Amino acid sequence: MLIVMNSDATEADVWRVVERIESLGFKAHPMPGSNRTAIGLTGNQGAVDPAPFAELPGVAECVRVTKPYKLVGRDLKHDKTVIRVGEAEIGDEFAMIAGVCAVESREQTMLTAEVVAGMGCKWFRGGAFKPRTSPYAFQGLAEEGLRILSDARDAFGLRIVTEAVDEPALDLVEKYADVIQIGTRNMQNFSLLRRAGQARKPVLLKRGMSSTLEEFLLAAEYIMSEGNYKVILCERGVRTFGDHSRFTPDLSVIPAAQRLSHLPIVFDPSHSTGNRETVIPMARAAVAAGADGLLVDIHPYPERALCDGPQALLFDMFRDLVAQARAIAEIVKRHSEAHIIGATVK
Ligand code: PEP
Ligand code: MN
Repeated sequence: MLIVMNSDATEADVWRVVERIESLGFKAHPMPGSNRTAIGLTGNQGAVDPAPFAELPGVAECVRVTKPYKLVGRDLKHDKTVIRVGEAEIGDEFAMIAGVCAVESREQTMLTAEVVAGMGCKWFRGGAFKPRTSPYAFQGLAEEGLRILSDARDAFGLRIVTEAVDEPALDLVEKYADVIQIGTRNMQNFSLLRRAGQARKPVLLKRGMSSTLEEFLLAAEYIMSEGNYKVILCERGVRTFGDHSRFTPDLSVIPAAQRLSHLPIVFDPSHSTGNRETVIPMARAAVAAGADGLLVDIHPYPERALCDGPQALLFDMFRDLVAQARAIAEIVKRHSEAHIIGATVK
């Protein structure tokens, strides 16, 4: 259920509702919006009687949420969620999250971070724990990799996004990084999602390679149901019969997710195509489709990369992509603002 407060409800009114929800053994999720606060109620099996809430001061209405996800949806929070870490943000201005697939060495990471920061980007990606198909492939530098990422943050003022492949890794990632990434192979690892929901850092959740949008949103709901509302969705390609590309980028999920959910959604053109020649065209298309940002692999010498070299952009290609993506994002923004205010775009 969803309890919508009047626009002039006070903080005390909100807390009275929260206390009432908790006293009945449910969980309360207050979500402030630009016009009013709504409070999500979870933990119920079946319909909840609205009577104990409807009578409280400041309550406008109690609404039954019929969708399977309650906190992720636009019913609870109409305004788009913006994730902020210091000056870096995702959900408002177009966000470029770029870096190495895997942290392989200090030199490789620092060279790349310098290029990313040099383009005015604020987010840096790099895996210290790598989920590899083969048990014999490079699995990442683990905590040493996290230390290198943390040094890159200090050296270049970047915010770090890095993957946690399991719960022990998540404990470490939470300590060193700014955003915890959950990979495609773990999108339905429900205990890991719950643990991410208990973390106090934002989570970038990649779509399972065979997941429907509803399954994707329910995975985000797992994280939010534990009280962590800072979730970034990431489309990274799905499995289809197509074999010209590593996965098939499902760009239609971007507007579909934005219609159903207030969470920001970014696109990973690198893992979804597996091939550097296809990365820039797909990245351009995703930005045009309204993606809130991109997650891109680059490498100083991809021919020697220990992981995903064929999809890594060369530095010059990356600089070119940043310029193109910003130009497209600007056009999209102008048009969506015009749409909101009903004006004509010049
Ligand atoms: C990654 O981003 O490094 C990664 C392994 O991606 P995915 O989980 O989408 O395969
Ligand atoms: Mn990779």
